Order: sequence, then C-alpha cells, then structure tokens
Amino acid sequence: MHISAIAGGVGGARFLRGLLAHLAASPDPDRRSARVTAVVNTGDDTTMHGLRITPDLDTVMYTLGGAVHEEQGWGRRDESRVVSSELAAYGTGPDWFTLGDRDLGTHVFRTQLLREGLPLSAVVERLCQRWLPGGVPAGGLPGGPTVRLLPMSDDDVETHVHLTDGRTVHFQEWWVRLRASVPATGFSQVGVDAASPAPGVLEALRDADAVLLPPSNPVVSIGTVLGVPGVREALRDGGAPVVGVSPILGGKAVRGMADACLSAIGAETSALGVAGLHADLLDTWLVDDDADGALHGTSVPGAAPGRGRVLARPLLMSSPQAAADLAGAALDAALATGRRPRRSAA
Ligand code: GDP
Ligand code: CA
Repeated sequence: MHISAIAGGVGGARFLRGLLAHLAASPDPDRRSARVTAVVNTGDDTTMHGLRITPDLDTVMYTLGGAVHEEQGWGRRDESRVVSSELAAYGTGPDWFTLGDRDLGTHVFRTQLLREGLPLSAVVERLCQRWLPGGVPAGGLPGGPTVRLLPMSDDDVETHVHLTDGRTVHFQEWWVRLRASVPATGFSQVGVDAASPAPGVLEALRDADAVLLPPSNPVVSIGTVLGVPGVREALRDGGAPVVGVSPILGGKAVRGMADACLSAIGAETSALGVAGLHADLLDTWLVDDDADGALHGTSVPGAAPGRGRVLARPLLMSSPQAAADLAGAALDAALATGRRPRRSAA
C-alpha cells in the first residue's frame, strides 16, 4: 500500500506521526507494511547567517525521527542557544528567529551539501538517513511502515506577504516577528511559476492508493504545495482518492493563526471555507464531530458530482493516539472510495 500526504509543519508532522503509528498497529498486513510519501512545503524556507533553513521539512523530520521539542511542536528537544547568544553579542540578528545549537548543526550541513551542488531533495534524503534510517520512523521496526520525505520542489519558492501598511515581507517575518499582527492582503509565491515538482512528487500523488491532506495551514502550507505547477492536476486527475482534514474546528484554528491567512485571501474561517479552496480535488472532507457535526453527510460546495462528501470525525490531535485514530479515519475514507480512472492529462 502506498499512501501520500502533503504537509506543512506542526499540524502535518503530528498527523504523519499518527498515520505511521496507526499503520504500525494495524492488524491489516497491507497497512502494516505501507509506504508513506510526504510532500512537504518549502515556501517558508529562508536564508539566515548564510544558512539555508527549511522549517517545515525539519519539523516533519524531527517529529518522525523522535527528536522534536514536543511542547513547542518544532525544533530540537534538549536544545541550547549558545551560538545565537554569541551572534546577539555581535549585534547581528535577527533576534526574533530561534536558531538552537543542535538545529544549527542541521542547517550547516544542509547548506554545505547545497553548496556542493546537491538538489534539496537529495539533501533531505541525506539528512533523513540519520533520523529515519531505511525510512523507519522513531519507535518503528524493520518490516513495518516506512516514510519518505520529499520537498515540494528543488527550486527555491518563497512565500512573501503583502501587508495592509504597504510593505511586502518574507513569510517568516510576518508569521514569527509580527505574529501576523499587521493584516495581510495577499501572498506571493516568489519563484513558483518557474519551479518544477521535485523528482517523485507527481508520481507519488498520482500513483498512491490514498492521498491525505493533513490539517496543515490551508493557505501557506497546503496551498503553497498545490501552487507548484502540475501538483493540483496530479491530485485532481491522477486517480488517487483524496481525503482532507479540516484545520478549522467550529470557526477557529486549533493552534496558530490560520484565520489571518484565510481572511487575507478572502476565504471564510470555517471548515467549509477551507474545503472550498480544495473543492476540485476532494473525495472526502473530514470535519470535527463535536464542533461541526451538523455538516456530516453534506457535500463540499463546488465539488465534482459524486465527490466531496463531508464526514464528521474527532479531529483534535490531543494525544498521539488521537492523531493515530484521526489518520486511520482519513485512510479508511480514502480506501472506501478507491482509485478512480486516471484522466488523460495526468
Ligand atoms: P506550521 O507550518 O507549523 O504552521 O504547521 P502546519 O501548516 O502543518 O499546520 C498548522 C495548522 O494545523 C493550523 O491551521 C491548525 O489549525 C492545525 N492544527 C494544529 N493542531 C491540530 C489538531 O489537533 N487538529 C486539527 N484538525 N488541526 C490542527
Ligand atoms: Ca510552516
């Protein structure tokens, strides 16, 4: 069984960890030996102190590799800040972006490999040899489910944010420095038109038995990946059943500031508002049984005939088990739909 997913940072990483736990514990041998491919957003990537930083890829890698700072959701546990305090003593910033010492080791090695000419996808593979040897996630066993991380593209694509005060800033500056306090009027994916999907991305999305959209930020994580030329078509026409999980419960983002992103693009902060962004892709959309249970059994507005059914399930990943159950519910929905005939364009 081959399962593909599109992921941003924390929401995507926790969902993927749940998916791998669900698969490892399944009585079904096909699930127990499944291959998971995660296509990860690189629109948040940036360069600081000459180092290339890939926040969402690192969050997924550290989470699946058992190294993440659990409460924070990103970065390394047992982290220290010696290097950044030395940089601050020189008066060089930015002081708003955390670069821990252990994490810096990853950034230094990544930058070295990129300078040697390796494409990002090969760099990710090299870094994952440490955290996911043989594709086996932390706590997993050989013969169990495996996971492979792919950047959405080997080409640089950076999300820039247009602000109501007239400025345009890098996504990290808006999100981390300004905490989205200045409203945005829109986003640009700088470089996306010339970007190609990384090797294996389109195949993973077309050929999978199931494609899952975790509850990652719908605009600046999932939306960014969908903006890479060919990705949207691969999902729409490739034949794999597509199941999405709402990041919005009862009109609110579970954590973070996804509402600020949705209002910037004129979308409603609601489970159906998010579904509407993916209406052409979805076979099933999962909403929270508690907060949005009234939507159960309805259809996503604008979905293709016979597609876009709405199912209510518990969507809060309040524990690793809850995340595993959520991922299992998403996979069940996809497998119940099964593959469709591929449309010729894909
Ligand atoms: P980031 O790159 O670290 O910002 O993370 P992502 O893009 O992967 O995900 C952030 C999104 O995950 C936010 O919009 C949250 O609403 C959503 N999210 C976080 N935890 C949960 C959860 O337990 N359940 C659901 N349904 N969504 C969640
Ligand atoms: Ca992110």
